[in-house]
Amino acid sequence: MFGRIFNSVLSIVFPPLCISCGRILGGFGNKVCDACWEKLRKLPSFVIENKVYTDHLDMLVAVYIFDEVFQKIVHMIKYSGFRSVAYELGYRAGKELRRMPRVLECEVIIPVPLNPVKKRERGYNQSEILARGFSASVGVPVEVGFLVRRKYTVSQTNLGVEERKKNVEDAFCISRYQKSFKGRSVILLDDVVTTGATLNYAAKALRSAGVKEVIGIAIATPLMD
Ligand SMILES: [Zn+2]
Repeated sequence: MFGRIFNSVLSIVFPPLCISCGRILGGFGNKVCDACWEKLRKLPSFVIENKVYTDHLDMLVAVYIFDEVFQKIVHMIKYSGFRSVAYELGYRAGKELRRMPRVLECEVIIPVPLNPVKKRERGYNQSEILARGFSASVGVPVEVGFLVRRKYTVSQTNLGVEERKKNVEDAFCISRYQKSFKGRSVILLDDVVTTGATLNYAAKALRSAGVKEVIGIAIATPLMD
């Protein structure tokens, strides 16, 4: 009770601002205003066919264009720890794919794991939070811990195409104690897809455990000409 009064007094004196554009927010608990969410540009086609590494994926899907607006939101998620923004972004992306039968028919969503060192540094894996929001939208459950990141891979950001591939080629394995998804269809979810290497080699690990079909989903991808 007191907390709630205190919060509403606080929001009059210091109204919550959109973390992206700085405008005063209307809704309670929001971090990004509707106008900013609407600035996110959707890809003309969600099915992606122009990536370098996709041989272990049955289908690759992305929702938004990785542009400045998207980058700003992801930066907030990664470095300011706004988990609720990641959740909402995942939810919104899921809403866009609600009419894709192959997505809805999957049995489980597996977020691409962060290596343990990075997870400790950041406190959470943003792909996992994105997956939870996505899951709330499409009604497919999330499974964490089945797919594991094996070694300390360096950040992909400054690597070339070939280096990116080497960096992730043997990075993933399957946890021994988890249930089996043999013969099943799964969604493998990551924040951004660039060359396809991360999703592809994570998918390879899933296949080695007998997974039948892997639908790679990225929340965004850069537009390539
Ligand atoms: Zn805004």
